[in-house]
Amino acid sequence: MELNLEPLNLPGVENKRPLVIAGPCSAESEEQVMETALQLAKNGVKIFRAGVWKPRTKPGGFEGHGTVALPWMKRVKEETNMLVTTEVATAKHVEAALEAGIDILWIGARTSANPFAVQEIADALKGVDIPVLIKNPVNPDLELWVGALERVNGAGIKRLAAIHRGFSSYDKKIYRNLPMWQLPIELSRRIPNLPIICDPSHIGGRRDLIAPLCQQAMDLGMDGLIVESHCNPDSAWSDANQQVTPDILDYILNMLVIRDEIQTTESIVALRKQIDEIDNQIMDILAKRMRVCREIGHYKKEHGMTIVQTSRYSEILDRRGAQASLCGINPGCVRLIFEAIHEESVAQQVEIINK
Ligand code: PEP
Ligand code: MN
Repeated sequence: MELNLEPLNLPGVENKRPLVIAGPCSAESEEQVMETALQLAKNGVKIFRAGVWKPRTKPGGFEGHGTVALPWMKRVKEETNMLVTTEVATAKHVEAALEAGIDILWIGARTSANPFAVQEIADALKGVDIPVLIKNPVNPDLELWVGALERVNGAGIKRLAAIHRGFSSYDKKIYRNLPMWQLPIELSRRIPNLPIICDPSHIGGRRDLIAPLCQQAMDLGMDGLIVESHCNPDSAWSDANQQVTPDILDYILNMLVIRDEIQTTESIVALRKQIDEIDNQIMDILAKRMRVCREIGHYKKEHGMTIVQTSRYSEILDRRGAQASLCGINPGCVRLIFEAIHEESVAQQVEIINK
């Protein structure tokens, strides 16, 4: 399905990279919300986030104040002129948030993973014109993410953006949620005019990872950043380890190097021509390799040989892996390439033998 999108067009927000959204994980009290919002506004942040309804992994955690916190968001709007955004997970949340004048809605990762819930939200949004940000589902399923975007777009919401917040994994050695950058990159390739906002807080899960993740998101050409910021991070009721003060956030944002996505200089054009030429050569060589493979297929058929000879296969993988190291290429990457080539060669030989 082709998405019908319009630019986010956020009043009072300059149209430049990165679009910054910041605020605490949760709205904990009117004082915490106002204190954080005033500090962020002073530093030039234009969009304030705070979770009013919090999906928690286990019962017993702070699940947000709910509708009680909505007037605090209203006060932020009135006293700072910032736009405000919160997470919605049910039709009731949507109604309450719209009623309270929330400017932008976001759909959380646990909700994006559930098509029934996304559809319920989409239905509640029919006839409403509000920007909606859709986080990736907790699992690395691009189709599910696209499906959520399609459902909301199908309800008539044209001002859409995606939030990349990483993917749940048992391995939490470095990241709380694995970035798997190839997914947002593929999303962007498939839906080129969809803005992509990176959430370094939930990817990293740690304060010290916020700066490098923001830089990486910018280097990959992402459009915005949504960062958890709290006036007193250590005492936060949720996600304390990953929140930074508004001043630290300001420091991080000021240190970012923003490179232009569109490179039109002479040299990049010339270099890209070289890449295209090399890719052509790779294709020619691959075609040549497949021709030889097919010949071997005929030979194997005539001599009643099996297609896959594991010792030969291991030898190819080991030899090219070792060669990769010498050429300064990751052996794991080269192994993957040769596995894919081998798979196609086997498929072609199977076809010959069964003819
Ligand atoms: C959040 O933004 O605070 C949140 C709950 O994030 P996610 O849905 O990405 O877990
Ligand atoms: Mn959070």
